[in-house]
Amino acid sequence: MTTLDSTHDAGLQSWVASANDPDSDFPIQNLPFGRFRLAADADWRIGVAIGDQVLDLRTAQLIDGNDMPQLLSLTPDARLALRQAIADGLCLGSPQQPLFAAALHAQTDVQLGLPCEIGDYTDFYTSIHHATTIGKQLRPDSPLLPNYKWVPIGYHGRASSIVPSGTPFHRPNGQTKAPDREVPSFGPCRRLDYELELGLVIGRPNPLGQPVRMAQAEDHVFGVTLFNDWSARDLQAWEYQPLGPFLAKNFASSLSPWVVTLEALAPFRAPFNRPEGDPSALNYLLSPENTAQGAINIELEVWLQTAQMQATGHAGDKLSQSNYRDAYWTMAQLVAHHTVNGCNLRAGDLFGTGTLSGPQPEQGGSLMELSAGGKKPFTLSSGETRTYLEDGDTVILRGYCVREGFRRIGFGECRGTVLPAVQI
Ligand code: MN
Repeated sequence: MTTLDSTHDAGLQSWVASANDPDSDFPIQNLPFGRFRLAADADWRIGVAIGDQVLDLRTAQLIDGNDMPQLLSLTPDARLALRQAIADGLCLGSPQQPLFAAALHAQTDVQLGLPCEIGDYTDFYTSIHHATTIGKQLRPDSPLLPNYKWVPIGYHGRASSIVPSGTPFHRPNGQTKAPDREVPSFGPCRRLDYELELGLVIGRPNPLGQPVRMAQAEDHVFGVTLFNDWSARDLQAWEYQPLGPFLAKNFASSLSPWVVTLEALAPFRAPFNRPEGDPSALNYLLSPENTAQGAINIELEVWLQTAQMQATGHAGDKLSQSNYRDAYWTMAQLVAHHTVNGCNLRAGDLFGTGTLSGPQPEQGGSLMELSAGGKKPFTLSSGETRTYLEDGDTVILRGYCVREGFRRIGFGECRGTVLPAVQI
C-alpha cells in the first residue's frame, strides 16, 4: 500500500512554470508516464508529463533505454526511487535544471501513443450501479445476477484494437436482430455507445501457477489511465449469449496517453466497505489494507462534442460525472481474483474496470443508461438530441483527484471520434 512522502507536498513547485498553474493536470505531484515520439517514423520514447511539457527520461539520464515493460516491472522500492529522482530534478531550485531542461518537449510538438504495448486485455464489470441499471433493462425482476457480489465478473477482450486517445474509428458493421424479426439483418451498428472506464496498467508480472495474494496485489498495478470501451449495443444483444461480448467490443477501445501511478494516487485513497447487509467477499479477496484504503477517489466526467458543436467552436456538453470510489470491487481484488487460478499477468497487460456509473440515474457511464436503452432521447445545449452516438460525435473522458491540503492532479483526456461505417 502506497504511503505519503515529500513528493506529495502541496507546496512543492516546479521550474517548469506551466506545472504550477492550478488548473494543470500535471503538476510536479503527479508525474504520469507515457510514450511519445518526435515524428511518425521515429522510435517511441518514455516520457513523464509535467505541465504542458513532456520530460524525455532517457535524455534526462533517469533510465538507460526506452524499454517500457522493464520500467513497468520495477519493484515498488525502485518505482519510489525513480519518482523521487524525477521530482528532485523538476523542483524549483534543482541543480539538475539544465540537464532536465534539455530533455523537455512541448506536448503539442510530439505524438503521444499508447503508454505501452498492450499484452492481454481483460474487461471487468465493477460498478454495481452500472450492472443494476443494465440488468433492470434486461431483467426487471432480478437485475443483478446471483454471482455479482461473489465473483468480479470479467471477459477477455482483444488488445489489437486498443487505440491511443485521438484516434478516430469507423462505426462498426455487423449482425443485429430486432425482437419482432425472425432472422438477423446486416449493416452499420445503430446503437453505438461509449463506456466510461479506467484502465489499470499491470506492472510486475507473476509467474504462471503463482497466484498474487491480496496483500501484494497492488504491487502488480503500475498505474491508472482513462479508458473508453466503445460498444455496439445492438450487435452485443444478438451475439453475447452464451460466450459474452465479441464483435460488439473489439472494433475500437480508446486509451489515454498518461499512466497516473499508484504513488501519485496515494493521497486520494479511501476506505473500502460494502453496503450494510451485503455478504462479505470470500477470504482470498479480503485484506486489512483493502478495507482501510482499497478504494480511490477519482472524479470522472464524460463530455460529448457533436460535429455541429465542433464546427461552431462549442467545447461540448458534460453528459455525466461519477467517481471510482463507488466501484464494488477494488484494484487489488481484481488482481487477486484474476490470478487465483494461477493465471499469469505480464507487464503491459490492461484491465478495464468496466463502466463506472454512480448511484444516481444521471451518473450513468454509458448512453444505454442515460437514454434508458434508447427509449428516452435527451437534448444537448446545441438543440440537437441523442439516444446513441451519431457519426461525427467526439466523446471526451476526463478524470481528476482533489483533496483538501493536497495538490489536484488530473489524468488528461481520452478522446475519440465516430467516423461513418465502411461500405461492405
Ligand atoms: Mn466495458
